[in-house]
Amino acid sequence: MASNQDLQRLLDELGRLPGIGPKSAQRIAYHLLEADAEEARRLAQAILDVKEHVHFCSRCFNYATADECPICMDSMRDRTGSYHGLYHVLGGVISPMDKIGPEQLHIRELLMRLGEEDIQEIIIATNPNIEGETTASYLARTIKPLGVTVSRLASGLPVGGDLEYADELTLGRAIEARRAL
Ligand code: ZN
Repeated sequence: MASNQDLQRLLDELGRLPGIGPKSAQRIAYHLLEADAEEARRLAQAILDVKEHVHFCSRCFNYATADECPICMDSMRDRTGSYHGLYHVLGGVISPMDKIGPEQLHIRELLMRLGEEDIQEIIIATNPNIEGETTASYLARTIKPLGVTVSRLASGLPVGGDLEYADELTLGRAIEARRAL
């Protein structure tokens, strides 16, 4: 019966992952059961390697393998072109329904950066949906009094469309056509 317990343990762990319901957990578990040992080992190793080597940049919360990510460490950034500025990852959006307020996001750290770094403009790239709008207007209200320009990506992206899936060209155009808030 030990093997069934092992399978149940895998199902439980998979089911804990975001976006994976019991059905998906079952599909993945059966796929792994049928896959060769090498494929399963690669997956397990990839998870372990990420946990060991990758974390969040201490400055912008992007992925990093050192204390700061390559973008933050690159002092030559902030040039013309489509976008060569720095980043700051909020880690989510304000969503009262999900009990996520400004204090659950990396907004405090962003405000600290405004005091420490020479920042002229903040370009907000939240998604064009209600939570994204709420977050953008909160940021504009908070940051503009500090004398920093606040703009938002042009609506060149489909409403409800996810920035993560926007290709570089679309994103570049949205940045060029950004509008002040
Ligand atoms: Zn960084």
